[in-house]
Amino acid sequence: MPETALPAVVRVAVDAPQHSGLNGPLDYASEQVLASGTLVRVPLGKREMLGVVWPGQAVGQPEMALRPVAAVFGALPPLGADWCRLLDFAAGYYQRSVGELASAVLPPQLRELSPDQLAARLRKLDKKPAKAAAAAPVKPLLAPEQAEAVARIEAQLISAAPKPALLFGVTGSGKTEVYLRAAEAALAAGRQVLVLVPEINLTPQLEARFTERFAALLPEALAIVSLHSALTSAQRLQNWLAAHLGRARLVLGTRLAVFASLPELGLIVVDEEHDPSYKQQDGARYSARDLAVWRAHDLKVPVVLGSATPSLESWQHADTGRYERLTLAARIGGGALPRVRLFDMKALPPTAGVTTALTAPLLAELKARLDRGEQSLVFLNRRGYAPVLHCGECQWKSDCPHCSAWRVFHKRDRTLRCHHCGFTERVPSACPNCGNHDIAPLGRGTERLEEQLAEALPGARVLRIDADSTRRKGELEAQLKAVHDGDVDILVGTQMITKGHDFRRIRFVAAVNPDGALFSSDFRAPERLFALLMQAGGRAGRDASDESPAEMWVQTWHREHALYQALARHDYVRFAKTQLDERRSASLPPFSHLALLRAEARTVEAAKAFLVAAAALVQDEQLLVYPPVPHAVARVADVERMQMLLEATQRARLQAGLRDWVPALIALKREHKGVLRWAVDVDPLAI
Ligand code: ADP
Ligand code: ZN
Ligand code: ZN
Repeated sequence: MPETALPAVVRVAVDAPQHSGLNGPLDYASEQVLASGTLVRVPLGKREMLGVVWPGQAVGQPEMALRPVAAVFGALPPLGADWCRLLDFAAGYYQRSVGELASAVLPPQLRELSPDQLAARLRKLDKKPAKAAAAAPVKPLLAPEQAEAVARIEAQLISAAPKPALLFGVTGSGKTEVYLRAAEAALAAGRQVLVLVPEINLTPQLEARFTERFAALLPEALAIVSLHSALTSAQRLQNWLAAHLGRARLVLGTRLAVFASLPELGLIVVDEEHDPSYKQQDGARYSARDLAVWRAHDLKVPVVLGSATPSLESWQHADTGRYERLTLAARIGGGALPRVRLFDMKALPPTAGVTTALTAPLLAELKARLDRGEQSLVFLNRRGYAPVLHCGECQWKSDCPHCSAWRVFHKRDRTLRCHHCGFTERVPSACPNCGNHDIAPLGRGTERLEEQLAEALPGARVLRIDADSTRRKGELEAQLKAVHDGDVDILVGTQMITKGHDFRRIRFVAAVNPDGALFSSDFRAPERLFALLMQAGGRAGRDASDESPAEMWVQTWHREHALYQALARHDYVRFAKTQLDERRSASLPPFSHLALLRAEARTVEAAKAFLVAAAALVQDEQLLVYPPVPHAVARVADVERMQMLLEATQRARLQAGLRDWVPALIALKREHKGVLRWAVDVDPLAI
C-alpha cells in the first residue's frame, strides 16, 4: 500500500515481536480521527494485524510518511478507557508490550474477521430470542454469618472507596450463596458482575447455579455468559461481544475473563482465590486474582476473594487491614467438617519390599464403607500407572531421552509417556539395556491404584478421574454424573477431583501419599498441600443430613508435622500464622517481592551465560540477585532450562528495576545466540 500523508495520526497498540524493540503503541496515518479503544487492522511488516487505537498523544506528524490504518471496525463501540488502563497496567507490571497483551486477551476470532463480517456478527446478536420465562427462584434464608458478609459487601457497593473483601469460609459454609446475593445487589443497581473460577471444569456447575438464580431476573438472551478457552471461537466472540455491549450482565469465566470488556462493571468475585490456576504460565504471566483486585480498585468497585484456605498474600492483607476479612466459620446446616485421621505409616509392621500405599487398615475402612453403601474418594496426585519402569538386573529406568525426567508407565495403552515433552513409546517387552524380561513398575499412580482397589475389593465400582480419563470431550461430565448418581463406590483421582465439586454422597476421603510436598524446595509447596488436603477433605460429608461424621484419612510418615497437626484441627488460621512467621523471618513473599528470569538454551552453559550477563546489568543495589540455578526439571525436549531470582523488599523498587532491565535484556539476547527463549515472571508462583 502506498504511504500517503493522511490528515490524522493515531497510536495503535499492535502485537509487534519483542525482539523488534517496538514496545509501545505505534503511529499510523488515518483518514479520520479515531476514538481511543477503536479496533482497527494495521499493516506491520508484511502482515496485517488487529490493533487497538490507544489513548495518549501520537508522536508522529501528519507530514511524516506513516503507514495508513488498513481498516476500521466501525460497527463496534470502542473499548473503554478503563479497559485500556487495565491493559496498560498489566503490560507494565508483567513486562510485556501492551499490543502483545491486547492481542492475547481479545477473542482470537477478531483477528480473522473483516469489519463487515464483524458487523454481521453484531446484527446476529440482536436476533437472539429471549429465553422462556423462568419461575422466581427459591432463595434460602441466610445464616447469620452469611447475612453479615452480604451486608458488608452491600455497604462496599455504595462506598466511594471500597476495600477488597476476603471471604474466608470453610467448604460448605455457603460462600457461593454470598456471591449470589452480592451479585443480585450489584445487578439490581444496574451493574455488570464478573465471577472468576479457577477451572474450566467448574464453570458449568457454577453457571447452572447462577442461571437458576437469575434466569427470571435476566430473561434476555446472552444476559448470563461464560468466557473460557474451551468455548468454540465463535461462542467466545459472541459472549465477549455480549459483555462488551453491556448485554451480558453476568460473566462467569476463568482467568482470561479478567480482561473482558465490561463497561458497567460493578462487582468482581474471585472464587477459590488461592488457586494457582489464576496465574498464567506463559506469555504475559499475569495473575488474574491480582489483576481483579487492581481492576476493582481502579473502578472503585468491590471485589470479593473467596476461599477456605486463602493465599498467604491475601491473608496478610487482611491482617494488616488492607482487605476486609469476612468469616463464615460454620458449615450450613451445622454439618461437621470431616474428622481427620493422621494414619502413622511407621506404626505398620515392616513388610519387606511391599509398597504400602494401600495399607490393610485403609482397605478395611474402605470395605466397611462399601458394605454400608457409602461413597469414598481416594486421592493421589500422580497420574499414570507407575511413575517409572525399572529393571532389577541392570537398574535401567524408563528415563526420557529428551528430558531430565522419568517416563511414566501407562498400562491401559501400554505406553511409556513423558509428562513433560509428550514423548511416547510402546512399553518394551524386555529391558532395552540388558534384555531382561522381568521389568517392573516402581511406585504408584492413579491407574495402578484403581487396579489394586478393584482387585482388593471385588464387586466395588471403582472409577478413576484424572487428566488421562477425561481426555475426550464429555468424558468428565459423564464421570461426574456417575458419581453424583451414586453409580460409583470408590472414586480415585488426582487434584482434579478435589476442587469445588459438590459431591453429596462422599463420606470418606483418603490421601494415600501426600508427604512429598513437605520437603519440596519450593517455599509455597506447604501452602499448596494444605489447601489441597483441606479441599479434598471438603468433598466429604457435604450433605449435613448424614448422621455419622465424615472422615478424612491421611497416610503419612510425618504425623507430627505442624502442617498435618493444623490440618487435623481444620485450623487454617494457625497454619497461616506459622507459615507467615516463617516467611517473615526468611524474607519471602509476602514480605518481599520476587521476579524470576528464565532462560532456555540447547546447552546449560549458554543459558547460564545469559543469566550471568543479565545479573551484571542490574543497577540497583537494593535488588538482590540470586545465582542462576537449573529449573526443577532441568531439561525438557532437549532444551536446558535455567532460572535466576530477583528479590526486593519493596514492590515499587522491583518494578522500577524491571523497567530498566527488561529492555536491556532484549538487547543482551542479540549477543547470546545460543539462547532460544527467555522470559521474566513477576510474582512467580512456583520456584
Ligand atoms: P461453599 O461455596 O462455601 O462451599 P455453598 O455456597 O456451595 O458453600 O453452600 C453449601 C450448600 O449449602 C449448598 O448446597 C447451598 O445450596 C446450601 N446453602 C448455602 N447457604 C444456605 C442457607 N443460608 N440455607 C440453606 N442452605 C444453604
Ligand atoms: Zn536391564
Ligand atoms: Zn520428555
